[in-house]
Amino acid sequence: SAPTRDRLRIAIQKSGRLADPARSLLAACGLSWRQSRDKLFCFGESLPVDLLLVRDDDIPGLIADGVCDLGVVGLNELDEQAKARRQLGLADAYQPLRGLGFGQCRLMIAVPEEWDWQGPAQLAGRRIATSYPAILAAWLKDKGVDAQVVELSGSVEIAPKLGTADLICDLVSSGATLAANQLKPVETLLDSEAVLAGPAHALDDARAGLMAMLLRRLDGLSRVQDRKLLMFSAAEERVDELARLLPDAEPLLRLPGNGGAVRLQTMCNGALSWQRLEELERAGAQGLMVLAVEKSLA
Ligand code: ATP
Ligand code: MG
Repeated sequence: SAPTRDRLRIAIQKSGRLADPARSLLAACGLSWRQSRDKLFCFGESLPVDLLLVRDDDIPGLIADGVCDLGVVGLNELDEQAKARRQLGLADAYQPLRGLGFGQCRLMIAVPEEWDWQGPAQLAGRRIATSYPAILAAWLKDKGVDAQVVELSGSVEIAPKLGTADLICDLVSSGATLAANQLKPVETLLDSEAVLAGPAHALDDARAGLMAMLLRRLDGLSRVQDRKLLMFSAAEERVDELARLLPDAEPLLRLPGNGGAVRLQTMCNGALSWQRLEELERAGAQGLMVLAVEKSLA
């Protein structure tokens, strides 16, 4: 079994798309580290939670081997390595614990623009270039299609031009890279985002409490994301009309105000546009104030 440790170790990408958002998110959870951005290891100062800065491909394996307890990694990478393990008959070693709301992309089949796409059956006998051979193989099997998987570690999108494959299966976010290579996306294999990944089995030492605390703080952050506290005052007779203009907010909380005015506050979801504030003002709201919510415990 894995060795007992009293410090939690989190693997994040050293550089690349997920590096900065992962660091910021963990910092927002109250973690801080001694300055060593160029090193492999960052020692946790505020809490016994250390960072390991690595290639994203290495993160699932580090969790599987117990070198790290948690990792921030694309679901695409985690799922690929989980499927590869399963295809080798190995037990599940990690699981996604939370979606983190960044790094969104899709793993898609993309074919030459001139193809008249009719469905997966069209892929029979074709060569498909991808960095996600396990996910692709599982998808092809599920669709009952017999095609050849050509594994490439990078620059998958130029494979059709080079003649090493007929089409590709690759990550897509804006679609610009595909368009630049005269390819079009036709099927989605996976909707992906960055996830916090953890071991398949719960830890049973001091790290379990740290992990629970971190998850609770993450949940607190996602609960307040896009939440705004709206404050204003109004004459008593205007309150009902103002409440009608805020159907998506929590019931108005009334606080004693000056003279005939009532102080009001409520939590709103999503953006409160200038236009909405002006509308509330015309209906009698005064001293409108919108405050971002930073933290929450529930
Ligand atoms: P590393 O050096 O760590 O191996 P990488 O080149 O494999 O880096 P990045 O390109 O930084 O990785 O992408 C990391 C993750 O970002 C991907 O695995 C995926 O989850 C996510 N991502 C979001 N949009 C895209 C996109 N358009 N192309 C590739 N990855 C994307
Ligand atoms: Mg990588």
